[in-house]
Amino acid sequence: MTNETLVHRPLIVGNWKMNKTATEAVAFIRDFRNRIPASPHADVVIAPPFTALPSACNALGPSSWISLSAQNVHWEPYGAFTGEISAPMLRELGCRYVIVGHSERRGLFGERDETIHKKVRAALKHGLSPILCVGESLEEREASRTESVVTTQLGNSLAGLTTQDLATVTIAYEPVWAIGTGRAATTEQAVTVHRSIRLFIETGWDSPTASAMRILYGGSVTPQNIEPFLASDAIDGALVGGACLDPDSFATIVRIAQTQRA
Ligand code: PEP
Repeated sequence: MTNETLVHRPLIVGNWKMNKTATEAVAFIRDFRNRIPASPHADVVIAPPFTALPSACNALGPSSWISLSAQNVHWEPYGAFTGEISAPMLRELGCRYVIVGHSERRGLFGERDETIHKKVRAALKHGLSPILCVGESLEEREASRTESVVTTQLGNSLAGLTTQDLATVTIAYEPVWAIGTGRAATTEQAVTVHRSIRLFIETGWDSPTASAMRILYGGSVTPQNIEPFLASDAIDGALVGGACLDPDSFATIVRIAQTQRA
């Protein structure tokens, strides 16, 4: 069994979705940074929309303790793909991470594991760390299919990757029924799935890779409910949607993460 006592520095990712103009992004970053100091005890990533990435990068400055992520990426580096953005374009804008396979991309824009797999590979090839989202629908949970859905998504999206590749991949377990609903999973539900994700990585690759991987929980995380998630050594941080849009609530979440494992 995987060594789950390896306690990671927590990673808190704020997914802004289709919110904030470039000007609003700069205002957010200034406000957020005034509320909270840098700390070696947690990693922080913000994922603004594509249009706000250049001004966000500028506002953060070259050696910021806050990293930048995109919310999506195309798998080709360039070409006739109207409306798409490539990994080299994101790298040049200062992105270090990219969210891949978010349930809104899967559910609203028809993304399938096959394209998600290509996106993960493209991200890795061009030096971006993928934050791969997986999670079951309510119907799938009620049919006791959570583990098989999540491990199928993982298997398809990570096929052929090396342990070296996996060292820069983060998994976000985001049950679809918990996203934007105000109905977060219980810590127990999240821990159970996180354990099966880690076991899946251990079985498919190896134990050190599984132990080293950060697995985040996402779905209606707020300043009020994050503590019990981070209290478990199976949960290495959070992917936050709604509660990351307000500088005060995102700063509170980050502060809890900074202090809880300090
Ligand atoms: C998300 O979109 O990844 C998310 C977790 O959203 P929320 O926190 O609003 O549920």
